[in-house]
Amino acid sequence: MTSTIEMTPTSASFVEKAPLERYVAPAKPSLIGLSREQLADAIGELGAPLSQRKMRVQQLWHWIYFRGFTSFDDMTSVSKELRTQLAERYTLDRPEMVAEQISVDGTRKWLLRLPGDPESGLPHDVECVYIPDAERGTLCVSSQVGCTLNCTFCHTGTQRLVRNLTAGEIVGQVMVARDRLGDWPGGTRPTDGVVPSGERCTTNIVMMGMGEPLYNFEAVRDALLIVSDGEGIAISKRRVTLSTSGVVPNIERTGNEIGCMLAISLHAVRDDLRNELVPLNRKYPIAELLKACRNYPGVSNAKRITFEYVMLKGVNDSIEDAKALVRLLKGIPAKINLIPFNPWPGSKYECSDWEQIEKFSQVVFDAGYASPVRTPRGRDILAACGQLKSTTEKLSARERLALRAMAMTD
Ligand code: SAH
Ligand code: SF4
Repeated sequence: MTSTIEMTPTSASFVEKAPLERYVAPAKPSLIGLSREQLADAIGELGAPLSQRKMRVQQLWHWIYFRGFTSFDDMTSVSKELRTQLAERYTLDRPEMVAEQISVDGTRKWLLRLPGDPESGLPHDVECVYIPDAERGTLCVSSQVGCTLNCTFCHTGTQRLVRNLTAGEIVGQVMVARDRLGDWPGGTRPTDGVVPSGERCTTNIVMMGMGEPLYNFEAVRDALLIVSDGEGIAISKRRVTLSTSGVVPNIERTGNEIGCMLAISLHAVRDDLRNELVPLNRKYPIAELLKACRNYPGVSNAKRITFEYVMLKGVNDSIEDAKALVRLLKGIPAKINLIPFNPWPGSKYECSDWEQIEKFSQVVFDAGYASPVRTPRGRDILAACGQLKSTTEKLSARERLALRAMAMTD
């Protein structure tokens, strides 16, 4: 069965799921997610002469990623012949938006359906959360369906179905958001919900949805390079943040090959506790992780690393922990993000009391870090999320996504 997940012990104490879910590409693939080189190859296969390919790619890039067109027919600068050939072999499909929920505070959650495995018949769904503010809009993007890692406080970790998203499915989340928000040149903004006042609705991207982005490195890299390309969607790399649970070998590559902002899901200041909360710590312990952070290409006071710290009552939220946290991060250009724990059915943790979060936050603040603990966004639509799909697995993934999005909106 392709839909079952094997438990693969990679060491006596570290257990990780292997992604086994099969992905069957659509018969007619989408051009979304192809790099300029891949686009050049695609039109080369259709017979475009070598001398013209660069110019043709430039035209296509503009229509696809700057204008957001969904049909080849409308690409007036492209020859009729090439448009017909492209339409015969390719689409400009994005993931299918199957549900939308809008919070009273304007936060939107979209359920997106991706091609699954016809054999198992299970749909492959991910969620994408949009958090508008007065002047910016943050999109929380997924990198995998489920996650192979098993952080004990995260419900996605318990999800059985796991597969990597393709670069096209990752870029596609951004495109679908911009389609919905009328966020292409000349587009019409929705009249419901909230949109920022500026020229663009989608100004920031956080790779904090489902999945571990550094376990799907190439696709995430290719997608983020497209999203930040100045002649297309053009979201600056300083406004793109990738969050990792600590896949140390890929951290340097993230800086060198993507060059985006980095967030680390730290959550504990001692290896014994982090081993339990984030089992990947057994493979890449805190000292190694922080060394990779110190050496993160491009890190500086102007380009700080965000350390995420989920507040778990009686587990990691003591004043001693707060003091140890600021000691641990000494010398690293850092921001600290305290996240109230979002409980899910069957979870064994509770969120820290508000007074404790404030005390913890004060220690962090006194050490010179701004440590905002934000008012949750989109909470009112969490309960209703369960109505979209009855499984608790889905409900929890949504809860977590909304929470992540909320935590990054400072
Ligand atoms: N896999 C990556 C990115 C996705 S998870 C990572 O772990 O960093 C995004 C963030 O949500 C991580 O910081 C994760 O620790 C946090 N998170 C997961 N479950 C949570 C929960 N129930 N409550 C609060 N934060 C949670
Ligand atoms: Fe995966 Fe991140 Fe959840 Fe850990 S916190 S199980 S790495 S999605």
